Amino acid sequence: MADCIFCKVARGEVPANVVYRDDDRGVLAIEDVNPQAPVHLLVMPIAHYETLWDAIRQAGDALPTTLFEVASNLGKERGGARGFRLVVNTGEDGGQTVGHVHLHVLAGRHMTWPPG
Ligand code: AMP
Ligand code: ZN
Repeated sequence: MADCIFCKVARGEVPANVVYRDDDRGVLAIEDVNPQAPVHLLVMPIAHYETLWDAIRQAGDALPTTLFEVASNLGKERGGARGFRLVVNTGEDGGQTVGHVHLHVLAGRHMTWPPG
């Protein structure tokens, strides 16, 4: 995807603070440029899929499992015993602003519910 910002990050064309990358498993994690918590990471496939649904349909079960595993590991590492939150905004009403599926990993403060 030529003009997708996260594809550009994955190709190294846009700078990012990369906290995890596994090319064999096709997963990348970066720090969010506009953090909403002391820990705010984005876990994404290196290949372009617009939504989680697309990734499941097009890549099969392994990729979403890997995304959630990596996100959970990072949440446990960075959030410690106090926990963390995973968020997948999907589509317009879901608040998705970048059309390349990504899991938000939020930690380091108490999260409220319901979200805005
Ligand atoms: P969403 O609104 O769920 O699609 O999340 C997109 C997230 O990507 C937002 O939290 C942005 O702050 C973040 N973001 C956008 N561009 C970049 C970038 N170049 N590097 C890191 N994070 C970004
Ligand atoms: Zn992309």
